[in-house]
Amino acid sequence: MTLQELRSQVEACTACDLCRTRTNTVFGTGNEHADIMFVGEAPGRNEDETGLPFVGAAGHLLDDYLTAVGLSRGEVFIGNIIKCRPPNNRDPKPEEEDCCIHFLHSQIELIDPKLIVCLGRIAAKRLIDPNFQVTKQHGELFRYHGRLIMATFHPAALLRNPGNKAPTFSDFEKIYEIAKVKNFNL
Ligand code: SF4
Repeated sequence: MTLQELRSQVEACTACDLCRTRTNTVFGTGNEHADIMFVGEAPGRNEDETGLPFVGAAGHLLDDYLTAVGLSRGEVFIGNIIKCRPPNNRDPKPEEEDCCIHFLHSQIELIDPKLIVCLGRIAAKRLIDPNFQVTKQHGELFRYHGRLIMATFHPAALLRNPGNKAPTFSDFEKIYEIAKVKNFNL
């Protein structure tokens, strides 16, 4: 299967109730062979309207962090655990995550990143550890099926709590250092 075929499957998916309220599915965007893949939780209002991940204020903040360490959206891949917007931006339900997570697993297989960066607690709990605590464990490196994985704060959470912007910047510096040491293709 190609990434485009997977995208078509997502666009046609009606496996959970979120298909009823979505405007667009949000598959993810970026380099289809990226060595670094960012994974958030689910689309919000702007993402649902545009079909693109991390647009609006939180997306601009993510772009700022990427730019600050010399990265761009074109070099990485950005997606979410859930491909359709939960109404009123509520947290995804566990059963919705269960329904949708196989799409992310397929994306990871097809893109084959060397480092996965979870943006926020929901992605970190799903991909790293159900008891993951972002405030205590952000920036730590773990293993995910032979790949490196870490988590940092979700940009939307940083808009609500700017006090975590400095540690987030340190996490992005670490991402850049890993990319340099491991000779990532950027
Ligand atoms: Fe399908 Fe995922 Fe959308 Fe649910 S959230 S309808 S599983 S694509």
